[in-house]
Amino acid sequence: MPRIFFEKQSYTCQGNESVLDCLTSHGVPIPSSCRSGICQTCLMRAVEGEVPLAAQQGLKETLRVQNYFLACVCKPTNDLKVALPDAEVGARTRVTVLAKEVLGGNITRLRLGCTLPLDYRPGQFVQLHRDDGLVRSYSIASLPQLEEPLELHIRRLPEGRMSGWIHDILKTGDTLEISGPTGQGFYLPGQPDQGLLLIGTGSGLAPLWGIARDALEQGHTGPIHLYHGSRDASGLYLINELLELAEQYPNLSYTPCLSGPNIPKGFAAGRAEQVAFSHLPKLTGWRVFLCGHPTMVATTRKKAFLTGASMKDIYADPFVIAADSIKPAA
Ligand SMILES: Cc1cc2nc3c(=O)[nH]c(=O)nc-3n(C[C@H](O)[C@H](O)[C@H](O)COP(=O)(O)OP(=O)(O)OC[C@H]3O[C@@H](n4cnc5c(N)ncnc54)[C@H](O)[C@@H]3O)c2cc1C
Repeated sequence: MPRIFFEKQSYTCQGNESVLDCLTSHGVPIPSSCRSGICQTCLMRAVEGEVPLAAQQGLKETLRVQNYFLACVCKPTNDLKVALPDAEVGARTRVTVLAKEVLGGNITRLRLGCTLPLDYRPGQFVQLHRDDGLVRSYSIASLPQLEEPLELHIRRLPEGRMSGWIHDILKTGDTLEISGPTGQGFYLPGQPDQGLLLIGTGSGLAPLWGIARDALEQGHTGPIHLYHGSRDASGLYLINELLELAEQYPNLSYTPCLSGPNIPKGFAAGRAEQVAFSHLPKLTGWRVFLCGHPTMVATTRKKAFLTGASMKDIYADPFVIAADSIKPAA
């Protein structure tokens, strides 16, 4: 009978037991709710061993390739070593600031060197831990296959504790800790002709810069449309690099969008998502990546679905403000 290895203990699956039933019957607390493969509360990851296909039904492809599965419908036929998603992303690695560079008015690029190789995909995000316990998420812009150092783009927020500290205090040679990576918004090969629509605001360009370059590196031949939006031109960055990339790869189109009153030549007028939908009114069959302002991400996600994109093809990373940043009322 197959055994389940979880947190240094092993448990034997009796009869037709699922991984969830096996673990909970031994008193192991695994979050669960519907117990029928719908709600995905009991999401786990197989660290070793093969997961039955039925245990991955309904999961996004990005989760499947990382061996995530639903414990309630997973009836293993072989031994499995499993972990909860949180346990996996909780491990911390110390990194060194290799370079710090201002990319635009309020965006700083950090290049970080990891002592241990980090297994990540461009577009995922890491948690950055300051030594006093402050933790924030930042998306990954670099490509591991090009051996680029881990690249993050940090937008300074007014009175932002982590972003202000990164802009003003953190310097080359300093060290800090990261955990992760996590997140499902990354490029997966397999449908090289599919249209890719990427929309980001502010530092939401970070994951999109990674995803677009990753897709091109992996030979994507379908159209890739990237829209980057801000109120004024000082909020946009990597403009020349993106224009050069679009010249090098004819299937890449890049549109910088400005929603403020002054629109210089070469920029589209309007919010990034409005401009995108005016160019691409039907998204049937497209894969969509949305990153940045939470309101933009939520409304665009809905609209992308209503204009034909399948929910499983929409990847959304709203840059929500951390709960601990809400100031108590005076
Ligand atoms: C998945 C994910 C990926 C992300 N990726 C990136 C990225 O690539 N780049 C990036 O720059 N950011 C990213 N973020 C956002 C990032 O994690 C931080 O939230 C951001 O940097 C702000 O952190 P901070 O500590 O500087 O600001 P905080 O100290 O958390 O403050 C945030 C803002 O809230 C304001 N504020 C606090 N309380 C109130 C209140 N009661 N009312 C009104 N305003 C208030 C503060 O003044 C400040 O402007 C991401 C977030 C998520 C969830």
